[in-house]
Parts: sequence; structure tokens; C-alpha cells
Amino acid sequence: MPDIINILPDSVANQIAAGEVVDRPASAVKELLENALDAGATKIQLIVKDAGRTLIQVVDNGCGMSDSDARLCFERHATSKIHKADDLFAIHTMGFRGEALASIAAIAQVELRSKQHDNELGTQVIIEGCDIKEQSSCNCPSGTSIAVKNLFFNVPARRNFLKKDSIELSHIEEVFKRVALINYTVDYSFFHNGKMLYDLHGGHFIERIAQMFGQNYRERLYPVEEETDVVKIKGFVSKPEYARKSRGEQYLFVNHRFIKHPALNAAIEKAYTDLIPDHYYPTYFLHLEVDPSRIDVNIHPTKTEVKFIDESALFTILRAATKRALGQFGLATELEFNPIQEVDFPPAPKDYVPQQPKVHYDPNYNPFNTSGKSNPTSSPSPVGGFGTSRPKGTQWTSFFDIKKEEIIDTAPQQTSLPEVEKEPQANKQPCLQLNGSYIVSTLTSGLLVIDQQAAHERIIYDRLLSQETPSAAQQLLFPVNCQFSPADADLFSELIPDLQKQGFEIGTLGQTTFVVSATPTEIKDSELQQLFDQMLSDYKGSMMQHFADRRQCLCRSLARQMAVKPGTPLQQAEMQQLIADLFCCHIPHVSPSGKKIMAIIPPEKLLNNV
Ligand code: ADP
Ligand code: MG
Repeated sequence: MPDIINILPDSVANQIAAGEVVDRPASAVKELLENALDAGATKIQLIVKDAGRTLIQVVDNGCGMSDSDARLCFERHATSKIHKADDLFAIHTMGFRGEALASIAAIAQVELRSKQHDNELGTQVIIEGCDIKEQSSCNCPSGTSIAVKNLFFNVPARRNFLKKDSIELSHIEEVFKRVALINYTVDYSFFHNGKMLYDLHGGHFIERIAQMFGQNYRERLYPVEEETDVVKIKGFVSKPEYARKSRGEQYLFVNHRFIKHPALNAAIEKAYTDLIPDHYYPTYFLHLEVDPSRIDVNIHPTKTEVKFIDESALFTILRAATKRALGQFGLATELEFNPIQEVDFPPAPKDYVPQQPKVHYDPNYNPFNTSGKSNPTSSPSPVGGFGTSRPKGTQWTSFFDIKKEEIIDTAPQQTSLPEVEKEPQANKQPCLQLNGSYIVSTLTSGLLVIDQQAAHERIIYDRLLSQETPSAAQQLLFPVNCQFSPADADLFSELIPDLQKQGFEIGTLGQTTFVVSATPTEIKDSELQQLFDQMLSDYKGSMMQHFADRRQCLCRSLARQMAVKPGTPLQQAEMQQLIADLFCCHIPHVSPSGKKIMAIIPPEKLLNNV
């Protein structure tokens, strides 16, 4: 049998290796930004076109490269950062593997221009799919510019796998944030399709956080500072009242590198025990400095995971430091850790006309009229949003009898609807609230238990999704400004038409600030920013997971946040209204996020578990 093994040519080997390092435009951005930092740059420009599909360019004022280094840097395992195996235990740079540029050059057309500070002329290298096409001298500023064009031009499978631009851009923005946040003394600018998204000036950590996330973060955070033999901790954690429903804004860095470390993240969250509700998460920006010989950053090719020798000590110190910050400053009324106090609101655009606040009232409203004949729009449902299209004042039970036929007629495919649909007896029974979270009623076939939050979520979701014309809105007495990061602001602008359908009135005020002048009646204006932040993070999450329909994602997110929370006491009438509304829904037994809404426990099983 002939020999069948051959050594792959470099171009193929590099393309395979590239899959590890560059899986989407954001990973190329990360490598280029880190190289610029390793080169000692104090000014870094990131220029992106079409979410990185056609161009990713990083321009820095770092040390630059010699003519031969400018060629050699595209070879695999070409690095100036380590020389021998021992150096792996004393890494002070972001890169050290020497594979990023080789990988990028294997899957894109790359133009590099670089000049060392004491040279007159720079050098230009053009390389495509690992082939050096040209090298020549050129006039260029000191430092390095690397332009990566047409990423994945020779790997169509990868190219086709890319998500829509707004999603790829949000990945790039996340990478940019992770790098720019912790390298806060460096100036950064970030352009996308010619529009400047960030213009950051070197300064203190808190200034960088405020520049990137909004000036209001200065009041939302407590400083953390701790120095021990094992670790030096510096940074900020959020006040408990600013905890969020998602883990989005948790930034932990080790030796200037963003890391994901579930145990350390848990240490910080543990410090908030009893201070924030379940399923809420603190925001934090924390930098740990540890001796490089005590960590191993060599675990994962994209290097967000690290291993610590002193992990359990670190856990304890981090939790204690966070707790101390919360305790120490939790008592203080005002915090003085802002080196700069200016508020950075963009000026209002020329054509912006502030809306006169309006107060709506119902002239027919009579608080002593209990006949239920007042204007239906002026009598909101008891806990907000329980009303669907059904007539008010109807007993849910009788309404349910009608609905039963309708459901059977219009949705014959739903053969496995819960038992309760065949239980007209249910209407005679009163309801009971259990643990502030469940509604209990009885049926002839057993005990009906309903998760009040999941049920309400289903009711609101169906209502939001079905409404084509804006729902009843409340004009806000004081319009509320909401601020987002530039990429989130773009995403938010895309969602405005859908939000308008739900009764929001939203205007723009500069590139990243929006003015909300009306909201659906159930929404509290004090929670708007949090509601939108959560909606954007849900939206990005579901878009990334399933490419789901935009309107559905939005309604699902709004419904989740508008739904009555566990622990909210409900009156008898409210519970009955909720059950009635629930049975108007097409799928009353599962919430839009897939949670089971109800259970029926037959009498014979009731005592089984006792
Ligand atoms: P690594 O960063 O792991 O060393 P890379 O492939 O990212 O590997 O880069 C290879 C080498 O190219 C680096 O070690 C560095 O010497 C040089 N280099 C890359 N980018 C720059 C830059 N922006 N300025 C100066 N030198 C650079
Ligand atoms: Mg590198």
C-alpha cells in the first residue's frame, strides 16, 4: 500500500489554525487591539466597516516594526513576546502565542504599514491568504496600521455563518469595551461605517466607565480597593439598588486581561446576599493584579479563561473586599470619588421641540360609583395589565365557559390542552394566594395551581403581540432620558417603531440619548432605563440564539418585565380576573418564555406526597 500521509502546506495549516483564533470579526478586532497595546501605544484607532465584514483596521502609535519583522509577524509561531518555555510563567503582555496575525492573514486580505520611531521611512506589506503580494517602503506615521479586508474571503462557510450586522457589531463593541475599559490611560476612537461610536480620552478608571456606560454610572458605583500579598484589587461595584436582571455588565480583569471565572464572579455576587432579590445581578468593574507566575493564561485559545494557584484565597479576599465596599459606603449619603464632575449630555438637535407635559384625566370618573359603569379606560385592572380584550366586569368563570368552545373551535390542533378547559365547575370556586406567588383554586378534577407571574406574562405577551394600533399610553409629566452605549443606541433605534406600537413615545436627543414622553399605562417611568437595558440584552440574547422574530422577542421581554412579581399580594377579584384573562389566551398553559403556568392535582394524588 502506498504512503498516504502528507504534510499540509502552510496556507492550509494556517487556515485550520485560524478557525481557533478568528471565528468572527470581533476576534480579529480583539487580537489587533491587544497587539497595539503590547506595542506600547497610547493612542489607538479602530475603524470598522460593515460590522467587520469588509474592513477592520487598527491604527496605533506604538513601537512599530522593522522591515523584516513586518514580514515575519505573519508567520505562524512568530512572536517577540516570549523566547523560551519559562517565559510562559511570566507573561506581561496580552499576546504570546504568535498565531494571531498568521491566522488573520490566512483568511483575509491584509495591508500592514509600520514605522519605528527613529526611522525616516516605514514599510508596507500586502498579504492575502498567507501569500505576501508586495513589500515596499512607504511614508507613514510612527506606529502600525493593520487593515484586514474581506474577512473569510476564502472561507465561504465561515462567511455565511456570520450573523446580521447589528449582532456582529455588538460582539465587536463588547470586545472593544473589554479592552478599552481596563486600559483606561490609552486614548481610543472607534468608527463604524464612518460614524464615530466612541471617542475616549485617557484618564482614571471611573472616567472611562462613565465615558463608556454613561455619566450616571458615577452615582451607581462604590469603589473597591484592597491590597494583600496575593492580590491587589481595584475597581467598582454597583450599589445594590442598581442590580440588574441579567449578568450583562460584569467586568472582571486580571493583569489587564478580561476574564471569565465563574468562581470569582460568584464570590462577588455572594457579597450581595440578602441585599438584592434572587435572579438580580450586580454590575462590577474590578481589576485584580496578581503575580503572573501564580496564574496560567494558557488554557483557552481565546484566553478569557485563566487558572489561579491561589483560587480559594482569591475567592475569600474578593468577597470580603466587595462586602466591605458595600458596608463602608452603603452608609454614606454621597460619594466623593469622581475626579471630574461634568455631565456630558449631548446638545439637543436643532429640530428637537420639547413636548409640553400633559395630564390625562377622566371627567366622568366618580370614585363613589361602584356600578362599574365609569369609562372603562379610566379603571385600570387591579394589578395592572390583567385586562385583555374581554369585557370588564365579567366573571372569569362564565367567560371561561364561552372561551372553552372557542378554543375547541379555533384551535383543533391543541388536543392536549390542560384538563381545566373541560372544567366548567371551576367557576364556582374562590381563589387563594399561596406564598404570594401561586393562585390556588379547585376544579371537579382536582386542585388548580397557577403561577401568577407566568400567567400574567402570557396574558401581557398575547395582548402586546396582537395589538396593531398603539395601546393606551400615559403621557409622562416629566419626559425621561434614557442613555445607551453607541451600538445599543443603534439597536434601540431599530426597535423604536415596534415600541411605538406598544404605546411608547420616544424621541432622540443626540446619538445615544432618547427621550421617552409616553409609556404604556402599566410601566413606571422610574424603571424605564432598566426596562430598556434588559429588553436590549434579551433582544441580543434571543437574536443570537434563534434569529427569532423581532416583535416576538420584544414583546416577550416587555411581558416578562411588566408581569406581576412573586410576592405581590393579590385580591380575590384580581386573581379571578387573572384566571379569566389567562383562559382568553391561545396557549394558557405555558408562558412565552416556556415556563409551565398551571398544574392540576387530582384529589387522589393530593395526599401522596404528604
Ligand atoms: P503575539 O501577539 O502572540 O506575539 P501576533 O501574531 O499577534 O502574536 O503578532 C506577532 C508579532 O508581531 C508580535 O509578537 C509583535 O512583535 C508584532 N506585532 C504585531 N502587531 C504589532 C503592532 N501593532 N505593533 C508592533 N508590533 C506588532
Ligand atoms: Mg497578538
